[in-house]
Amino acid sequence: MKKKELDFFRVTLKKQLEHLARKSEGSIGVLLDATVASADPLDRAALESERELTVHMMERDKKLMVKIKKALQKIDDRTYGVCEECDEDIDIARLKLRPVTELCIKCKKQQERVEKLTCDQD
Ligand SMILES: [Zn+2]
Repeated sequence: MKKKELDFFRVTLKKQLEHLARKSEGSIGVLLDATVASADPLDRAALESERELTVHMMERDKKLMVKIKKALQKIDDRTYGVCEECDEDIDIARLKLRPVTELCIKCKKQQERVEKLTCDQD
């Protein structure tokens, strides 16, 4: 991949990482608020479901942040944009849509087929 392209993805991924970091700070605020006990059971139930949703979102974001950090590391190592399965270059258009992707479309489809087959079996 060209340096210009690597720079583009580095900026994109860093922005996304900063955005997620800020979002998770906000989420921690929500969690702290939600732990304030309310006398009203309806309020408590609403807070509890909001808390669960926040925890769920935070877990998802955390996983994404790990992927972003890994992708940034790959940019430094100059291995970014190479499929982990077949070592072929991943299509730039695909990377632009999903910069943390680690598989080319061919391997991704293959993986999805395997996952589907595994699911169908049980
Ligand atoms: Zn591949």
